[in-house]
Parts: sequence; structure tokens; C-alpha cells
Amino acid sequence: MRKVTVLTGGVGGAKLVLGLTALEFAPQVTAIVNTGDDFRHLGLAVSPDIDTLLYVLSGQDNRTQGWGREGESWSFMAALRSLGGADWFALGDGDLALHILRTSRLAAGEPLSEIVAGFARSWNIAARILPMSDDPVATMIDTDEGELAFQDYFVARQCRPVARAIRFAGAAGARPAPGVAEAILDPETDSILIAPSNPWLSVDPILAVPEIAYALATATAPIVAISPIVGGEAVKGPTAKLMREFGLPVTTEAIAAHYARVIDGILVDGRDTVSGLSLPYAVEDTLMRDLTDRKRVAAAALDLARTIACSGQH
Ligand code: GDP
Repeated sequence: MRKVTVLTGGVGGAKLVLGLTALEFAPQVTAIVNTGDDFRHLGLAVSPDIDTLLYVLSGQDNRTQGWGREGESWSFMAALRSLGGADWFALGDGDLALHILRTSRLAAGEPLSEIVAGFARSWNIAARILPMSDDPVATMIDTDEGELAFQDYFVARQCRPVARAIRFAGAAGARPAPGVAEAILDPETDSILIAPSNPWLSVDPILAVPEIAYALATATAPIVAISPIVGGEAVKGPTAKLMREFGLPVTTEAIAAHYARVIDGILVDGRDTVSGLSLPYAVEDTLMRDLTDRKRVAAAALDLARTIACSGQH
């Protein structure tokens, strides 16, 4: 069976991983997931991107809302509000089970990677979901309102502050979680994909872990990114806003330039013109609305990786 390793944030990456696992000759997928968004809220350990993958890959995600669980109930939040508790971060009743169990197991000394593997087994998820690291890494955004922790910027302030720089506290000393470097370096891994996730907020924290960057630099499998830009805009989230604030054009060329030291090729959306790309690329409709779209994008990314491998361009 083919093995594919994916670097991913939350929603965009979960769509791609689901597409990969739904292909006719589905590869064995290892998802290396951003944990820079992880934080403590009301004493609970919350891992937003990992939980998005858990919900999407077990078919429990809320597709209308775009985050959280389908059919969620909200008694806890109502009670919390009635007591004057902080309600800026929504915690559904079912979602709480995940956070409480994770928090108690972390407190008992279990590493995050083992806890997540256990959750994935309980929900019969075929893909392997690995946190990028068991060590804490925190994405911090320097803005015109001062430095903000990721969730303060993303949820509480809804990305309104103007970003000036981003740093990943703890990344330099973080080790990859068990299995992460192995999944990148495994000679049976024939493609490494960078999901259409936010390059600055979701993928860069993964690349900031030194041993992950080293593994990617020495990997034999071709590395292909799927551009998060569709028709000169981001599909959702603050990617385009950040690019403008960093003085970059909102183009796939700018995404390719950002990943230049890492990738061997990029999957470009057909709505975008890419005259200035100097690395191998393929063009596809990359908007993933339903499962057919997800499979098409997954297959196109694997095809590009195969073409690059065959031509020896990596
Ligand atoms: P993340 O995955 O946690 O970074 O967060 P999101 O799921 O919000 O997605 C972030 C980036 O992925 C944005 O820049 C989006 O443009 C991109 N994205 C989300 N869905 C799609 C999609 O269906 N196709 C493509 N090409 N990009 C997408």
C-alpha cells in the first residue's frame, strides 16, 4: 500500500486527508498536525486542529458551522454564561468530553500523541493523526495591538488586529512527536503533501520544529503543496489578510515563494494564472466542497508528486 504523509492545520487539511482516505486505492495516510493553536481554556487542554481532524475523519463534524461536532448541545455554555464565566470560546457538551479526557490524561503524564492515537482508535479512524510535537508550542502574533496568543487573535479578536510578525514560542526546543520524522523519512512514503492550510498560522509552526524541517530537507519523497489561494483569494480564514499585511500579493506565486525551501511542486487552482512559477506545478479545480472534490484534489496532488518523482526533479 502507498504511504502518504500530510502536513496540516485544521479544516482545509482535514478535507484533503478525507479525500486521500476515500480514494479507490487509498494510501496509508499519516497526518502531522499543527499544535501551535493549542491552549488552555478554563483549565482544559484544547487542541483545535487535531480535534478538527478527529471530527472530520470520524464523520462527526458540523459541516454547516465549519467547526465542532454535528448535533452538538450547549447546556454547559448556557450554565457558564449564567455564572458570568468567559464565553468567548465555545465549548459544546460533547466536545467537552474530548477536552476533559485529554486534560486528565496529560495531567497523569501521558503524551499528547498517545492520547490522540487512543481517540482515533475509539472512533475507528483509518488515518494516523500525529501532533507535530508532544512539547508545547504556542503561535504568537505581533499586532498593532501588541502581541496576542493565537486564540486571542483568531477567536476573541476575530483576526481584526493588523499582524506584523508571527513567532512560535517553544518551537526551537520542541522535538517531533514519535512517528513524525519516521513518517517523513520512511522509504515507503512516496508523497509528502502540504495541505491547503494557512501557511503562516498552520504550516509554519510545523516547519519551525527543527527536526521536522531537517527531516523534510532530507526526505526522498517529493513534497507537494496544495495552494490555499483560489481565484486570487483565500477560501476562508485570515490567509489573504495576513499576506496583504505582510506586503505580499495574494497569489499562488507568493505561496510557492513562501514554501520555496521546502517544496518540489505546487498544485494550483485553475482560476489562477501562474506565469511566474519556476517549480513543477499542476492545475486543478482545488475547491473542496464535497467528497468528489476532495478526492479530485487528493488524486491531483498525488499525480503531481508521482510526475515529479518520475522526472527526478526533486
Ligand atoms: P487551517 O487548515 O487550520 O489553516 O484553516 P482553514 O481550514 O481555515 O484553511 C486555511 C486555508 O486553507 C485558507 O487559506 C483557505 O484558503 C484554504 N482552504 C480551505 N479550504 C480550501 C479548499 O477547499 N481548497 C483550497 N485550495 N484551499 C482551501
